[in-house]
Amino acid sequence: MTKPLFDTLAIIGPGLIGSSIMRAARAHDAVRTIVTCSRSPETRKRVAELGIADKVADSNASAVENADLVIVCTPVGICGAVAEEIAPHLKEGAIVSDVGSVKSAIVRDMSPHLPDNVHFVPAHPVAGTEHSGPDAGFAKLFDGRWCILTPPEGTDPQAVDRLAAFWALFGANVEIMTPDHHDLVLAVTSHLPHLIAYTIVGTADELETVTRSEVLKFSAGGFRDFTRIAASDPTMWRDVFLTNKDAVLEMLGRFNEDVAALTKAIRRGDGDALFKHFTRTRAIRRGVIDAGQDTPDADFGRPHGHED
Ligand code: NAP
Repeated sequence: MTKPLFDTLAIIGPGLIGSSIMRAARAHDAVRTIVTCSRSPETRKRVAELGIADKVADSNASAVENADLVIVCTPVGICGAVAEEIAPHLKEGAIVSDVGSVKSAIVRDMSPHLPDNVHFVPAHPVAGTEHSGPDAGFAKLFDGRWCILTPPEGTDPQAVDRLAAFWALFGANVEIMTPDHHDLVLAVTSHLPHLIAYTIVGTADELETVTRSEVLKFSAGGFRDFTRIAASDPTMWRDVFLTNKDAVLEMLGRFNEDVAALTKAIRRGDGDALFKHFTRTRAIRRGVIDAGQDTPDADFGRPHGHED
């Protein structure tokens, strides 16, 4: 057996992402001991039942006391308060990280509370599902996905390397960028698509001439693929839009211009413009598959009852 990368790992917030990290750390012998804490007694009890941690602490402060790696896996909006709560209890030399989907706000909210004798290396594993809570996690969630690290200037490179090695052990590809750049990239690849899905599903729900049962019945026409994204956790996504406001508004402005251009093409019967646009977007889908970020199977590999 290879030597674990860290002695003790503390996960604050063992939901979908936190519990997946615990499962992956266990599966890969990445650490010797896993300690966790959640806000509610119900989740703490459930995590203990699942047996995915060595210890379920009853406060965030006591969970981090002996940890060499602390990963805050709560919704983005609460990360600052959690940093303040754990700061006096952190072990000297510990690496403190997070998994928040927004990075500038995390650096702004967490950094001021953290003592100088720990290393702060924010992270965002670009992997997830529409489910929440400790039962939703699984060890392979990060396999073949990206994990973006956004260390503030002057961070000890050794701490960055150690955290990168931790994520790489789970099969993740690690990339380093600034928090601002991360927020801009994710605004277009993740935040805007979620906003569009939330909008479309809401729009369909409010129609009067098409009944709700018809929307559900004929959803395989495209609608159902948006419903998966629109089922994502409301707390998490509220926080994403509140904390990545500028980048999302920038991308939304561009999106509205493009919708206006397509609207014009439809109104004018400009088939060439529509055909050109759709040809370009089809090539992007091929690029996603070539990058190993989705299956090439038709309809996302859903079974259609033809398999023998
Ligand atoms: P989740 O399944 O809802 O889990 C969140 C966990 O945080 C829950 O266990 C919750 O505890 C706990 N929590 C909330 N406030 C807390 C506090 N003050 N102290 C301790 N624990 C607290 O959420 P998730 O999907 O794992 O998302 C967590 C983070 O990962 C977010 O920052 C999100 O932006 C990021 N992320 C999510 C995805 C995704 O697809 N879901 C992907 C990448 C990154 P209780 O159950 O006890 O209330």
